Amino acid sequence: SAQGSVTQRRVLLANPRGFCAGVERAIDAVEQALRKYGAPVYVRRHIVHNQAVVSDLETRGAIFVRELSEIPPHAVAILSAHGVSLAVGEEARELRIHTIDATCPLVAKIHTEVTAHNARNRHVLLIGHRGHPEIIGTLGQLPDGAISVVGDAGDVAALDLPGDLPLAYAVQTTFSVQEAQQVIDAIGARFSDVTGPRSSDICYATTNRQQAVAAIAREADCMLIVGDSHSSNANRLVEIASGAGCSSSYLISDSAGIPWDAISTAPVIGLSAGASTPDSAVHDVCRALTDAGYVLEEAAGKVENVSFKPVPMTARPRPLAQ
Ligand code: SF4
Repeated sequence: SAQGSVTQRRVLLANPRGFCAGVERAIDAVEQALRKYGAPVYVRRHIVHNQAVVSDLETRGAIFVRELSEIPPHAVAILSAHGVSLAVGEEARELRIHTIDATCPLVAKIHTEVTAHNARNRHVLLIGHRGHPEIIGTLGQLPDGAISVVGDAGDVAALDLPGDLPLAYAVQTTFSVQEAQQVIDAIGARFSDVTGPRSSDICYATTNRQQAVAAIAREADCMLIVGDSHSSNANRLVEIASGAGCSSSYLISDSAGIPWDAISTAPVIGLSAGASTPDSAVHDVCRALTDAGYVLEEAAGKVENVSFKPVPMTARPRPLAQ
């Protein structure tokens, strides 16, 4: 410290942190497709919200597009982990694009749930961030108007729906556990016939990363979350660190983003990474901090052993040139 005490400057690494099983599976799907079908393989939207991951796949022959209309017929295209609306599947058939669906199974589970609620004539309230790709994909499972998106209790109050309308709610996989509960409580207070998922829609990876960050935020003077500015789950980790009492919390994409001035007075730095952040970015930040004299320390935390079956490579091979 400034007083010249011998306190060792430490970095507390949150556990678990970084890649989740759904992100690993989606990236693996692009790699598998490149091996099986050869370059180029098209990918609709960012496969996961991380620029470093996208750039790396681009150098290996993946071409990222916004819309299917940018893809030539008969090409192979991968749909991202966030999931897509039914209309995207129809568009692919019309354009004769061979799609490989890398939607995370935990997002697909929510698609199944909202479809079942709709079949039972329940209007769906989807707790999530309007405009996020996962929300757009889930909205697109049902006809327009069958789902209302609510982001907070104020949105619930503003709903123009009768109090006795049969409702069901679903939650974005990467929402804040605490904030989702506030919205669920608001729904329960305003509506009389509400059903929800048997177990939380917020996925294991989100829940575990949020818990781990809250646990170390109490000990840390400053928190660094490694992740992309577009990543919902990484942004939630920054909010959770602040909410848990660490007011000095930053989202950085790599070591270039380390706020050296802010951490100069922080003997203990907490470090975590979003579910779409590659280990290489975390290592880069750790290296810069150890170079600056910090000692790394792994915090205790939950061990994850979730893995999903690989995405089936069901696209038909390209027709041979005539
Ligand atoms: Fe699946 Fe959760 Fe990872 Fe999203 S954050 S890809 S829902 S495991």
